[in-house]
Amino acid sequence: MSCTANGVADALRAAAAVIAEHRVELIELDRAIGDGDHGENMNRGFVAIVSSLDTAVPETPGAVLKLAATTLISKVGGAAGPLYGTAFLRASTVVGTGSELDTAAVVAGLRAALEGVQARGKAVEGDKTMVDALLAAVAAAEQAAGAEGVDIAGVLTAAADGAAKGAESTVDMVARKGRASYLGERSAGHLDPGARSTALLLGSLARAAR
Ligand code: ADP
Ligand code: MG
Ligand code: MG
Repeated sequence: MSCTANGVADALRAAAAVIAEHRVELIELDRAIGDGDHGENMNRGFVAIVSSLDTAVPETPGAVLKLAATTLISKVGGAAGPLYGTAFLRASTVVGTGSELDTAAVVAGLRAALEGVQARGKAVEGDKTMVDALLAAVAAAEQAAGAEGVDIAGVLTAAADGAAKGAESTVDMVARKGRASYLGERSAGHLDPGARSTALLLGSLARAAR
């Protein structure tokens, strides 16, 4: 199985719908340990991505990912916009200019996204950020990719399951990066909003691929 530019565009539309659906939840998670804007930030970014895609879908999967990246970087402030923007930008670079993505390209894109977020935000495992969801997602996707005959839906489903577990693991953590770190020990006992949005995004991409 492979995925064209239109396939990636449809997956991003599905992601936008899920972010819209969970906008209030993400706001409330961020209100508990941040400034309460994460749901609004993410929704504004994905509404803008869909509006660009409605004008024209770029020619290649990599170009669609790049459009998502530049939209998030220009439309979304705060920590998450530049971080997710960098994730999509690194993914777009690593998948190249071919007309279709295969399973290996999707796995490479996920790893590049993780490395981009870490290069930009300097968060490591256990800092209670989206990195905790992404690390678990990439590990699960790479493990799934080792099995024979696994397709894009298979690796994305593994990534989504990994991200959900990684996000859940942030509840007990004390934040060491981002606004939540200002709370110190009081950040413990809350799900990190960025880790939750990463799990939501990967879940929506996996469903779109199935
Ligand atoms: P802001 O904190 O600027 O209001 P958002 O609320 O949109 O931005 O995003 C907050 C999320 O960004 C956090 O929940 C966390 O997952 C993520 N985050 C913050 N700083 C970092 C960082 N340095 N590295 C990775 N992720 C980060
Ligand atoms: Mg915030
Ligand atoms: Mg903010």
